[in-house]
Formats: sequence, structure tokens, C-alpha cells
Amino acid sequence: MICPTCGKVIPEKIQVQTKNGIKTRVGYDLAHYPTTWAERAENMKSSGMKYTRKDVLDCYNSNVRCQCPECNQKHIFEGIREILQMANKNIGEQILSHYEKYLGNYADASVFAGSKESYPIQALKFANVLDGLKTFATLGF
Ligand SMILES: [Zn+2]
Repeated sequence: MICPTCGKVIPEKIQVQTKNGIKTRVGYDLAHYPTTWAERAENMKSSGMKYTRKDVLDCYNSNVRCQCPECNQKHIFEGIREILQMANKNIGEQILSHYEKYLGNYADASVFAGSKESYPIQALKFANVLDGLKTFATLGF
């Protein structure tokens, strides 16, 4: 089994130090995904609805995936969707600024739109990167 977040092989069994000594346990953790347990608990609390113990346990036990204990316990991949959403708001500007830092100001830009389902791609032309050549960079996501 491969950890979906770090890509490392998850061993079948691992040994962990506990307060009662070294114990052998399964090599994976079950991680709440795509929403974290904290997000689910907050949604239940703020909904104003009454939940039974069974409702809460059913919610706790649903939508989980195997993850290596290191990724799960460090919570390093939680909130990644929010980070990506924040980044997407200005990622085009960030990439353009990166291109311009190394290639100079762009001379021209063209947008190529595919089908409705696909995102448009922008091609940027840089005039003075290499003598006698035009340089193009694409932006699209
Ligand atoms: Zn991992």
C-alpha cells in the first residue's frame, strides 16, 4: 500500500513506542478525508441540529482513507484544498511575475480557449531572451 499524500510504501505492521512499551500495530492510519474530523465536528455543532451518538459515530467512521501515520499525525496535508484555493486566486499573477523576473517584460500575449470544460491557456511572448529567437511561455490551469 502506498501513502496517498507522501507516496511512501506503508508497511503492513509497524512498531510504536507507547507508555506501556513497544507495541506492534497496523502500518497505516485511517484519516478523515476529504473533510477533517475537526471540520465535520464544527459543521455538526454549527448546524443547530441534534445528533445522536450513532450519528456522530457514523460521521466519524465515514469517508476515511489509509495514510501513513507520519502524514496523518502531523496533519501536514490537511487544509491543502484551502491553500490551493487561496493560491489559485492570484497564481496567474505569481507565475507571470516569475516569468518576467527571468525573461523580462512580455511583448505579447494570446489566449487559446478550448472547450467549455477546459481552461484557457495563455501564451506569452518574450522578445529579448535569446538573440534572434522568440521565447514563449504558457500559462494555464
Ligand atoms: Zn505519508
